[in-house]
Amino acid sequence: MLRVEGLKTYFYTLSGIVRAVDGVSIEVKEGEWVSIVGESGSGKSTLAYSIVNLVPPPGRIVGGSIVFKGRDLLKLPESEMRSIRGGRIGFVFQDPLTSLDPLRTVGDQLSEVIETHQGLNHKEALEKAARLLEEVGIPASRVKSYPHQLSGGQRQRIAIAMAIALKPDLVIADEPTTALDVIVQDQIMDLFTGIKASGSSIILITHDIALASERSDRIVVMYGGKVVEYGASRDIVERPGHPYTAGLIESVPDLWSDKQVKSIPGNPPDLRDPPKGCRFHPRCPYASEECRVREPPLIDMGNGHYVACLLRR
Ligand code: SF4
Ligand code: MG
Repeated sequence: MLRVEGLKTYFYTLSGIVRAVDGVSIEVKEGEWVSIVGESGSGKSTLAYSIVNLVPPPGRIVGGSIVFKGRDLLKLPESEMRSIRGGRIGFVFQDPLTSLDPLRTVGDQLSEVIETHQGLNHKEALEKAARLLEEVGIPASRVKSYPHQLSGGQRQRIAIAMAIALKPDLVIADEPTTALDVIVQDQIMDLFTGIKASGSSIILITHDIALASERSDRIVVMYGGKVVEYGASRDIVERPGHPYTAGLIESVPDLWSDKQVKSIPGNPPDLRDPPKGCRFHPRCPYASEECRVREPPLIDMGNGHYVACLLRR
């Protein structure tokens, strides 16, 4: 359904070119939930924004292709892209206020999305908006509320209602629960599980590999603007093939055991001047001389599990 190939998205800043996404390929199938996992600065959000052509300046997509349902999105005129965005692809931002207008009621905003794309009149659209609110667990009477009258969790539910208003084929969510407490986070994730059950594919961008593994079919791990590992969620958590993925898993606190939580030493690379060879080598406990010069290719581990690490040859 979605195939991203060799995508490059660079930011042209005064202090140099930031290669935020540097040759990334991913695939999402019909009805599949794929989570993109990595620390901040791994390029995962830039990948998400690239798919809907919303990369903010000075960023630019400079290479690759994004084929969605047989059409290359990078070759579409902006008018068509706009109708796909919000129509066939729904986007949920980290901060729900990004997609909500503080000066208009929730009902007005939701019904506007429905009216413009579905040709309903205002009254019908408002009724549909009320039903959508109930679908995301908010009383229909809230159509009359303004965003500031709602909690953070409710606002995110409304942003999700806007993203799914037109029954999109794909919903992309960029760290949608980062600002919320754990209980609300879980409820929001339940919403996404429901969205998937109704047939949409989901791309979840998250730094939380535990959250990703509980919910998604597959996990793609990004580091330094590149994909370093991907595969079925289970394989990734039970048999991580990349030292970085293993590090992410080790750094998950476990409430039920007294496992030692270890964070990965060092910092993500400066993407204006990334390390040569394997970009993870300055932080990798297994780095050899070869890792400093040779870029690891993605190696097939079987069952659709791929790892970019020279140890796996
Ligand atoms: Fe570590 Fe080398 Fe593998 Fe990179 S290629 S993750 S530096 S062992
Ligand atoms: Mg981000």
